[in-house]
Amino acid sequence: MSVSLKELESELNTLLKPEQFTDYCPNGLQLQGCSEIKKIVSGVTACQALIDAAVEGNADVLLVHHGYFWRGEDQTITGLKKNRIQSLLEHEISLFAYHLPLDAHKELGNNVQLAQKLDFVVEGVLDKSATNPIVFKGRLQKSHTFNDFMHFLAARLEREPIGITGSTEKISTIAWCTGAAQKYIEMAAEAGVDAYLTGEISEPTVHIARETGLHFFSAGHHATERYGVQAIGDYLARKFNIFHEFIDIDNPA
Ligand SMILES: [Zn+2]
Repeated sequence: MSVSLKELESELNTLLKPEQFTDYCPNGLQLQGCSEIKKIVSGVTACQALIDAAVEGNADVLLVHHGYFWRGEDQTITGLKKNRIQSLLEHEISLFAYHLPLDAHKELGNNVQLAQKLDFVVEGVLDKSATNPIVFKGRLQKSHTFNDFMHFLAARLEREPIGITGSTEKISTIAWCTGAAQKYIEMAAEAGVDAYLTGEISEPTVHIARETGLHFFSAGHHATERYGVQAIGDYLARKFNIFHEFIDIDNPA
């Protein structure tokens, strides 16, 4: 079975509503390839290794969270960007990239999918004033000590997290935002949850965790953002009866 590129694009945009977001990159079809789609390859970042794997896997579409054309970057198509774009165009692979719309989606998005992976019960959002919130809150199925939770994260995400102990308290309630969202740690502390989890950590994050008494976990930018594209790819494969393969290009960051 196959689906037209136009129909696939329309389905993705209906699902993820990119027009509702002010973002750092264009969301949606970033590079146009062939017009009939039989196979989607998904991955976190449209790096050369993922493109090569997509070519190898006969993909017609590459669906990612981190695409190209970021605000503030060099607008010319030279160097690494030229190589990547040339590989995609030569093989007529369309590139779809969804950044914030993929973080925010309430069923298939990165945050809700990460919650499923980690057995969090989703109870609401912290950034309530945002049109499309991306900082979620909820509770663990059972409370964990700091050390238990570190082991749990390492096992579920297959990557050692960095943890900062905020207090001696166990963790029952948690807030989280996938990717590089360490700046929301104070929002989490004000909300009174026991812990905050995101993908990355910065030097000041450590002090904020210690001084607010909030446990902090940096579980990997890549590791926390693997699940949204998989859920979207699976959804499209079921809907249009086409193939979908998620390819994980290992990234310790
Ligand atoms: Zn990201």
